[in-house]
Amino acid sequence: MTAKKPFEIARETLKQITARKMAPTPINYQAIYNEVAGLVSEPPFPADRLRDIAQALPIKTPGQQRQRGLLDSAIGQLNWDGVKSALMAYGGFSPPAAEPAKVGAVTGSPAHAPAPVASASGDAGAIALSFEFFQQMARLIEYALPALGTDDERFNEQTQTLLKALRQPGADLLLLKAMLASFSDRLSFAAEDQAEIKVTLLKLLHLIIENIGELSLDDRWLKGQIEALLTASTPPLTLRRLDDVERRLKDVIFKQTEAKGRALEAQEDMRQMLATFIERLSQMTESTSAYHGKLEENARLIEQAKTLAEIAPVLKEVVGATRTIAHDSLSARDELRGMREKALTTEAELAKLHLELDRVSAQARHDPLTGALNRKGLEEAVEREVSSVRRKDTPLCMALLDIDNFKALNDRLGHTTGDEALAHLAAVTREVMRPQDTLARYGGEEFVVLMPDTALGNGIEAMTRLQRELTKRFFLAGTEKVLITFSAGVAQLVADESGQSAIKRADQAMYLAKRSGKNRVLAA
Ligand code: GH3
Ligand code: MG
Ligand code: MG
Repeated sequence: MTAKKPFEIARETLKQITARKMAPTPINYQAIYNEVAGLVSEPPFPADRLRDIAQALPIKTPGQQRQRGLLDSAIGQLNWDGVKSALMAYGGFSPPAAEPAKVGAVTGSPAHAPAPVASASGDAGAIALSFEFFQQMARLIEYALPALGTDDERFNEQTQTLLKALRQPGADLLLLKAMLASFSDRLSFAAEDQAEIKVTLLKLLHLIIENIGELSLDDRWLKGQIEALLTASTPPLTLRRLDDVERRLKDVIFKQTEAKGRALEAQEDMRQMLATFIERLSQMTESTSAYHGKLEENARLIEQAKTLAEIAPVLKEVVGATRTIAHDSLSARDELRGMREKALTTEAELAKLHLELDRVSAQARHDPLTGALNRKGLEEAVEREVSSVRRKDTPLCMALLDIDNFKALNDRLGHTTGDEALAHLAAVTREVMRPQDTLARYGGEEFVVLMPDTALGNGIEAMTRLQRELTKRFFLAGTEKVLITFSAGVAQLVADESGQSAIKRADQAMYLAKRSGKNRVLAA
């Protein structure tokens, strides 16, 4: 088939316009002409209109100025792709990653593409992309800085210089590459240092905790707390766990300070009593030796006496001396008895104080039976988690679980075994849940589990996993294997909802789980 000649195409075009009853406009003529000639129909390039638009664009930054130049040149070359890239970059959008080769040419190996960014052959899209990439890199470095500390001044300076270079429009790629290489070298040392510091600090913390434990061997509560502290401060560490360590340490320090104050007071009392006692003792020795002296003297007088009249005054003196010594020892005895009573009272007071402190400190945030948080501890934990959700916009799940038929277990095996069952459930829960989850005793046989960064589906899954684990790790009452089951409700905190309200919803779902047959987990 031979190609049509132009006049044949023109004639055919006119015929078609008449046949299709089209208006004889230049645009229609062009469209039909292209159709007849088999050409791609392309509307004319509206260079003037585009120039008007380009001129109307404000230029406030060097970046905008550069994009405006690229836009003008693309219009001059009737290049639609160039116009598109320049406009997108002007609007702050990355152009589609359609042409990786061009991006590579700008950011790629210096051996083959040594051209600085600003002079890369007019490819606005690639320039914008690499510029955006460097911005992101600068942001990434800035975000990572707090983790590296600020002790190394040279490293700080180097970081600031690099950040400045990354943010410089049209930076030299070769220079940037060299700066980045040197930075990552130092970065690896800084990161290693930080890891080392963290490990050493942890070792120190362990040492301190162990020492506190050594100093307080006689205190059961403190020993329990020390063990909990050592477990809590064992890696992997999270901020949440460190927070727990801090709160527990505060409890321990509070208790030690109180006990120490009272112990010092009691010690001073004892010291004073001892001093008085010694003084009285020496007084007594003095008066008894004087008495003995007098008796000896009188015995001698009696021996020498020849008449009864001579003996009478001697006897009178003996009776007088005996009375005095009797009186002295009586008052000394009374005084000593008083001192002994005072010592006993102080001792009892101290023991009472210890008990009271045990109670107050242990109940500060933890339930002594299960080691889980108590209501007060839960309130604080909920407050912390809810504010973290607001800050980070992450999901938070709260589960409320209630042991099934616990009264029957108590009735059959006794209250003490019931207590052990509660501690068992808490221990298994702690093992099964993630370290960042929090377990709290909500009431008698009811527990709350806080699961940060967890959406509803995963929260339900976690509680179901706990149910499964409890069937594997049954509770041993003597030699009897007892299966503990629970019913639970899980609620995910919704926007603007309080923690209390989410727990209430979880409670309602738990109630429904009980009503529908127990041993199940329902979503709130
Ligand atoms: P349900 O499956 O409907 O939850 O029945 P249940 O028997 O578990 O529930 P109910 O509320 O009737 O009884 C709870 C029991 O938990 C009653 C109470 O004596 C017991 N309990 C509460 N706190 C403790 C505790 O600290 N130790 C022990 N051993 N028992 C406790
Ligand atoms: Mg209950
Ligand atoms: Mg129950």
